[in-house]
Amino acid sequence: MSRFWSPLVHQLSPYVPGEQPKLPHLVKLNTNENPYPPSPAVQAAIQAELGADAARLRLYPDPSASALRASIAAAHGLTPEQVFVGNGSDEVLAHAFMALLNHRDAQGAPRPLLYPDITYSFYPTYCRLYGITPLTVPLDERFQIRVDDLIAAARASNAGGVIFPNPNAPTGCGIARSEIERLLTALPDCVVVVDEAYVDFGAESALPLIAAHPNLLVVHTLSKSRSLAGLRVGFAAGQAELVEALVRVKDSFNSYPLDRLALVGAQAAIEDVAWFEQTRGAVIRSRELLVTELAALGFEVLPSQANFVFARHPAHAGAALQQALRERAIIVRHFTRPERIANHLRITVGTPAECAALVEALRQIV
Ligand SMILES: *Cc1c(COP(=O)(O)O)cnc(C)c1O
Repeated sequence: MSRFWSPLVHQLSPYVPGEQPKLPHLVKLNTNENPYPPSPAVQAAIQAELGADAARLRLYPDPSASALRASIAAAHGLTPEQVFVGNGSDEVLAHAFMALLNHRDAQGAPRPLLYPDITYSFYPTYCRLYGITPLTVPLDERFQIRVDDLIAAARASNAGGVIFPNPNAPTGCGIARSEIERLLTALPDCVVVVDEAYVDFGAESALPLIAAHPNLLVVHTLSKSRSLAGLRVGFAAGQAELVEALVRVKDSFNSYPLDRLALVGAQAAIEDVAWFEQTRGAVIRSRELLVTELAALGFEVLPSQANFVFARHPAHAGAALQQALRERAIIVRHFTRPERIANHLRITVGTPAECAALVEALRQIV
């Protein structure tokens, strides 16, 4: 606390990222990073950009990221005008909250932003930063997002927007594209942001719905399925009017969110389709095996379409399991709130060896 802080800063409660421990030899299954390295083409592109003397770093990068946006557009059947890139999808999401999800009615009363009661904990953080009124909609008894509940809550509250991850975090459960289409059609006056951070691990992407739905924004990251959490690149896709709103905010904040190395590295990752297919296939196979092994140990595992599983053991508290794993040098994520998930662990799918180490440790613990 300081008298020099602006009033807003006093009110913030910042997001707490998963721990990045400095200790070597840990089995790190707590922040949903990809266990495989990025495409070798990423390193080659970054080295080529640096050249022999790194002289190019003297020059600013392309503020409109044209080459990267063209590459993303080509990969997804979009036009470059339908693609926005940012410094990690967290930055893209932040701009979307400010540009598209902060609305008031004709009398000046705030229109709430809807999201699930159990979801990505950055959403409430952005609401506080931008003065948006959140309204949470409970997941059903099987931890699924129910579109009918979102529609009813949006109509009853005159919502100004809806956001959720698909598959949801930290549950890993996805909903069908047809359900998202039903939501978009039912709420034509609301922007719906679908955060597809984990979509490449088995859920249906909403990207094909963009052409017919001016109220849809889809957000992706290269941190998970492209193994580039350290490079900080994410993108949003939507009709050009939505993208233009994001560009207006970006150019009022930082014209160069992606540096030269991130631009070329991200483009190389997008273009190496074979590497992407191979690594995401390996993660999906490890996940299926992990789910089976956890179930055999008595865990209740939610059906996952992500690169993590969300599981609880009926006979063991979540905090105790997390601590027992930590004593065996395995780090997983545990959320104390809301109450309903206090006994769950969110476990990132690692390499086959890491998954085996986890299962062996849990076998000893339970
Ligand atoms: C990991 C994650 C992000 C953020 O990804 P970055 O691109 O690394 O900022 C966004 N949304 C959800 C749901 C995530 O899990």
